[in-house]
Amino acid sequence: MKTYQHFIDGQYVDPLGGKWLDTVNPYSGEVWARIPDGCERDVDRAVQAARRAMTEGPYAKMTPTQRGKLMVRLAELVAANAERLAEVEVRDNGKLYSEMKGQLDYHPEWWRYYGGLADKVEGAVMPVDKPDHFGFTTHEPIGVVGALTAWNSPLLFVAWKCAPAIAAGCAVVIKPSEFASASTLEFAALTKEAGFPDGVFNVVTGLGASTGSALVDHPDVAKITFTGSDVTGARIYAQAAKTMKRVTLELGGKSPNIVFADCDLDKAAAGAISGIFAATGQTCIAGSRLLVQNSIREDFIERVAKLGATARRGDPMKPDTNIGPVTTPPQYRKVLDYIDIARKEGARCILGGKPATDQPGGQFVEPTIFVDVTPQMRIAREEVFGPVLSVIGFEDEAEAIRIANDTIYGLAAGIWTENIGRAMRVSKAIKAGTVWVNTYRSISYLMPFGGMKHSGIGRESGIESIRGYLETKSTLISYAEGAPANPFVMR
Ligand code: NAD
Repeated sequence: MKTYQHFIDGQYVDPLGGKWLDTVNPYSGEVWARIPDGCERDVDRAVQAARRAMTEGPYAKMTPTQRGKLMVRLAELVAANAERLAEVEVRDNGKLYSEMKGQLDYHPEWWRYYGGLADKVEGAVMPVDKPDHFGFTTHEPIGVVGALTAWNSPLLFVAWKCAPAIAAGCAVVIKPSEFASASTLEFAALTKEAGFPDGVFNVVTGLGASTGSALVDHPDVAKITFTGSDVTGARIYAQAAKTMKRVTLELGGKSPNIVFADCDLDKAAAGAISGIFAATGQTCIAGSRLLVQNSIREDFIERVAKLGATARRGDPMKPDTNIGPVTTPPQYRKVLDYIDIARKEGARCILGGKPATDQPGGQFVEPTIFVDVTPQMRIAREEVFGPVLSVIGFEDEAEAIRIANDTIYGLAAGIWTENIGRAMRVSKAIKAGTVWVNTYRSISYLMPFGGMKHSGIGRESGIESIRGYLETKSTLISYAEGAPANPFVMR
């Protein structure tokens, strides 16, 4: 069994408290490694290393161009190690190898993009409205960044958070999910190999309520960037306020996937499946509410159910597997609880609806579809984070928009229509950070990603994201000659 260590100040080190956590392969149910259960002192050690990196030593003196070059080198190393890292992720979170390898192959783009952006952060010279004054802005790194990530795509989140943070000149301390920490710890070695000075990139593992919370409380952390549930996000938001930390929160969703009668039905059916059964439904952007126009409802549901029934369960490492296990035991119980709740509330199950017992590990759920769902039911309002689809009918565009927006969440939405006017009207009316038209689950390093309403605060990816790791400074210089100005009035 493999034993991992924290990565602090450029070294792998044992936890100071001497405690460890088992890490389980969700497919086999076997403990395959142990990770440090970090204590406050481990967190402090990592934060101090990050602070030192930003204030002393080579990183503090590096030009943005030099930082960018290291980031591009890191991109090449990730590309060369994509297979190995993807395998670790599958062992840790049980998601499909094809999905994780795809993510790892794409991951380097964030380092390349933000590496290129590092030396393009420009301030401005303002035409100051005061005689003999020169005014300009600069953008400075915000400080040490604490990153908390979820288990479903650990290294993708590392890229989304750390690439813009490092491009901005920050140093980071990451606390990955206790359910899937191994890949982030393995990744850390690549930052050293790429040539990043010690302390720029640190990883401390452990439980959210202790290790994670210590990072949020730490007075030398300037910003928390978090990916996880809205319940934890709200707690962190409140906790971070005590030390006035900046926050970026990437939270959950209950995204509507809206199918109009005029769409390409085959494409929309594939889009509906990819929205909910890909990644076993364990994605923040799951299209878990399928809104179907009543005139095609019966026909469309039949298509989706037929396609859904073809999903092959099995070993996530095998290329022909479509559905893997649910990643964690609490998540598995939660998914089954929601299936019970949906039945009790009167929704009708037309596919799946029970544990799948034909696989090892004991954490498989059959891909499940509920019809006759009403917008008031809990299954239509709460995030399940599993392969459970709720189908809701609608009459016209106005009703589709009303139902789509009738949620506390606003992460993503899908619209399926061949009518460009409708696509524009509906995408404009929907309160969501990302709207897909005739596609679903399409993510790019160039496109800002994040949530409205309870789905979060701030955006990741795209140029916008780097702003979240910078503070703007205004400098005003007077070159006036003569007597001093009146000191008792504002200039
Ligand atoms: P979670 O909220 O339980 O945990 C996320 C991270 O926060 C973990 O590292 C955890 O250890 C840590 N944490 C937990 N409690 C903490 C506390 N009190 N203080 C500090 N840190 C704490 O989420 P999860 O179960 O790992 O992930 C699933 C959730 O993540 C879903 O709701 C999903 O929608 C959301 N998610 C959002 C996005 C996005 O980009 N918007 C992406 C993926 C997942």
